[in-house]
Amino acid sequence: MKGQLNIGRVFGVQLGLHYSWLVIAVLVTLSLAGNFSSVNVGWGAETIWTTAIITGLLFFVAVILHELSHAVVAKSRGLPVRSITLFALGGIAQIDKEADDPLTEFLIGIAGPAMSVVIGTLCLITASALGWSPETQTLAPQTPVLAALVWLGYINIVLAIFNMVPGFPLDGGRVFRAIIWWATGDMERSTNIAARVGQFVAVVFIVWGIFQFFFGVGFGGLWLALIGWFLLTAAGGSYANVAITKILRGLRVGDVMRKDVETIDGTINLQEFVDEHLLKTGSRCYFVVEDKRLVGMITTHEVKGIPKDEWKDKTVEQAMRKLDDLQIVSPQTPVSEALEDMLRSDVNQLPVADDNQLTGVITRNHILEILKTRADLKI
Ligand SMILES: [Zn+2]
Repeated sequence: MKGQLNIGRVFGVQLGLHYSWLVIAVLVTLSLAGNFSSVNVGWGAETIWTTAIITGLLFFVAVILHELSHAVVAKSRGLPVRSITLFALGGIAQIDKEADDPLTEFLIGIAGPAMSVVIGTLCLITASALGWSPETQTLAPQTPVLAALVWLGYINIVLAIFNMVPGFPLDGGRVFRAIIWWATGDMERSTNIAARVGQFVAVVFIVWGIFQFFFGVGFGGLWLALIGWFLLTAAGGSYANVAITKILRGLRVGDVMRKDVETIDGTINLQEFVDEHLLKTGSRCYFVVEDKRLVGMITTHEVKGIPKDEWKDKTVEQAMRKLDDLQIVSPQTPVSEALEDMLRSDVNQLPVADDNQLTGVITRNHILEILKTRADLKI
């Protein structure tokens, strides 16, 4: 995902923080501080802010644990997990492949909410052991530890319930899809149904949120409408995704790749590359080869990154994107997978290679044309 800070790796999974999370972190801390100061009038400003910040951080850890449990289950069922990104409304575990069977889908979907329920329950049990009870909550003076535990207890259970709303792509939508999939044996149909329910839920959120905004709680309603809008986009996306996967099914990269690839020798300088190749052929993307072996790729983007007066002194090899930074597909890769790779890493083309021997190139535009033609002919 774009616009994210990488904050490290856990269990081999990259953890990323989308910038929108920073806004949420501030909002959560502010609302916690407001909450603590109105419930516990005896607390000083320092106690209120320290408790709010620490509680906010612990909530952040709880959301990570929720997402990690999706990731760990996916990994244990043999699905590669690339990264986890925390963004405004929670998190997304980026699982590279769709589950192959309904049970895997069910377990991945349920893992996160189950983790949130466990965390929430543990917090409330600990709070009870320390003398808190739901009835006396507002009467008894709370210690900061109790206030934090109780808030974390409730918020994690709310998080679990919200995520179990049966609209795709929420966790509940995954679970719901798994159940229909299991019952009908048809993965595509179940995704479509779950996405439709997701869109319905989203519209209910939006309408209810706007209604609340005008006739009820004010900005809380807008928040709900915003979540609904997000869900609507995501559910529509997964619906379109199934349609595209269906059209591209069975197609392999080798069937549709372009074989007339523009290659270039890495030792020539950039000035010559621009004058003799880029400007003459109209091709914007060249693969750098050495004895037919692919060593890198160079596009106008890399050339632009180097000041014009250095073009004479720099070789193509020095400016190119090296093999290690390139995603490569093989002729056997399904086209739908290649398209996902391109969208995820935000590139327009991927080199196709067999054992580092460059055999062709596959581009986004080319796949789009195929999609159009196939949709046209209803193939
Ligand atoms: Zn989840």
